[in-house]
Amino acid sequence: MGRQNTLDDVWRFIDTREGNQDVCWLWTGARSGPNLDRGYLSINKEKKLAHRIVFEMFNGPIADNMVVRHVCNNGLCCNPKHLILGTRSDNEKDKVKTDTIGLPVPAVREIRRLLASNIPQAAIAKFISSKYGVECSRSTVRNIKLGTRRSEDEMSAEEIMNMSAQEIRNKLT
Ligand SMILES: [Zn+2]
Repeated sequence: MGRQNTLDDVWRFIDTREGNQDVCWLWTGARSGPNLDRGYLSINKEKKLAHRIVFEMFNGPIADNMVVRHVCNNGLCCNPKHLILGTRSDNEKDKVKTDTIGLPVPAVREIRRLLASNIPQAAIAKFISSKYGVECSRSTVRNIKLGTRRSEDEMSAEEIMNMSAQEIRNKLT
């Protein structure tokens, strides 16, 4: 039998994106929950939820009646900046929002902002997928665009694919 995990072992399974705190840090280890969207670490035969371990490392113990919420609505995210305390009812509301749109709420907000800046849809899809670690297709972006004016600023597919997330971000400023 190998050595027992300690709380610090949680970092072995988190992609910390080279310390970039503006993006989701996804859990790469074992998963649990009905949708397999929560990471866990086994410590002394007990399953501990990864995002709760990280939250407690930075903020101290979690009160019994509270839950740790993801501001990014990305259950596998362990970026301490994306974790906040909330009530169970807050958490249920988060789930409803995510299920109806299929994307984290901040991602949808950001897509609307990028669309308003005339960033091409394919570039937005690529940027959002990379930033939030989710699958965001061009048609999802198009669906979110419903009701807004069509952008005249179309780039070629090749130009878009050659754009980095940084270049897209620069285009905004
Ligand atoms: Zn996140």
